[in-house]
Amino acid sequence: MSVIAFTKRALRYWRRNRRYWSLAKLANAAVAQAAMHLRMTYNPAMPVVAKIEATNICNGTCRLCPVGRRQEGRRPLGMMNWDGYCRLIDRVARWAHTVDLTNWGESLLHPRIADMVAYAHRAGLYTYLSTNLHTLGPGQIDALMTCGLDELTLSLHGLSKATYAAYQPGFDFDDACRMIDALLDARRRLGRLEQLKITLNFVVTAINEHEVGQVESFARQRGLDWALSEASLNLRFLVGPQMAQDEPQAARQIVAGQADQWLPKDPTYVRPLYERARREPSVIHSGRKLVWCDWPWTKLVVNWDGALSACCGSFAPGDDVGHDTGQPLRQLWNSPGLRACRASFRRRQRPSHADVLCGRCPGVLL
Ligand code: SF4
Ligand code: SF4
Repeated sequence: MSVIAFTKRALRYWRRNRRYWSLAKLANAAVAQAAMHLRMTYNPAMPVVAKIEATNICNGTCRLCPVGRRQEGRRPLGMMNWDGYCRLIDRVARWAHTVDLTNWGESLLHPRIADMVAYAHRAGLYTYLSTNLHTLGPGQIDALMTCGLDELTLSLHGLSKATYAAYQPGFDFDDACRMIDALLDARRRLGRLEQLKITLNFVVTAINEHEVGQVESFARQRGLDWALSEASLNLRFLVGPQMAQDEPQAARQIVAGQADQWLPKDPTYVRPLYERARREPSVIHSGRKLVWCDWPWTKLVVNWDGALSACCGSFAPGDDVGHDTGQPLRQLWNSPGLRACRASFRRRQRPSHADVLCGRCPGVLL
């Protein structure tokens, strides 16, 4: 990116977001960066982003997602309770810049999702949601447009009926397009064009790779932003640590099968570590950090039931690193579990760090 393009982008970002920054929030973000670079286990900064799971219920069947694949061992289904949510927002609002209300589910299934956004918006937080486009009724669309939402991501991983259904079986491409148009109409009609950024997210796979060139025109015609994303294979659910260690040949076959089926040919859209995992499956559960990750220092992840996770890839309740019981934020954010996660980034790890998810992760959950 040229310096001019970068400067323009930075200015646009600042114009859109300055109302969500304060001196306290800027100073907090700077301290969080310093704490991360010093690999501090006690984090003197507060979270910069709060990722709060509105619900882990989902109507989707996305084939690479453990929710869509109905992976065993997940948290019981439920919805974030209103009082617990408000208490959490009240504690993070002074420090955090963003609240993201998505995690392992379709957030728009929460009956009070627009109220949740509005509450966070009033507290001075940048609000973010994503959707699979198959839950919204007409009444909900207007509520979503007027609740103070700043950013909405639309998942559309195919530009034809066949490619769309190949990744999200049971969902219809034409229904998704109708919903996109209804959202964009409502944004125009309600005068939210400048305030609400709507982005199309297209995960590039072997199945839809030939459509990449059409994404821009599809988005531009509708006045959408767009992003091309790398697929996450979620190999860790298919190849456990024991198998990766003791049966490397079998593990390699599974990795190769997934990679051949799903990864596109163009390496631009492939995480480099997947190539390594083909040869060396033990990398999937390696605690040695091969990629830098800032989650434990900057992003607080709270599931619908109040359980704390290290990051958005943590799936099973056994990997929880704390629980929100209404305690002071500093205490929650420095729970023993989260401190162990941060400690796993140090060069010399204690064996006990392998007890937490970060201690078994190369810095990105493969
Ligand atoms: S919509 Fe989201 S949570 Fe649901 S299956 Fe798809 S990726 Fe997973
Ligand atoms: S589990 Fe991995 S990706 Fe998640 S926070 Fe820990 S190191 Fe980062």
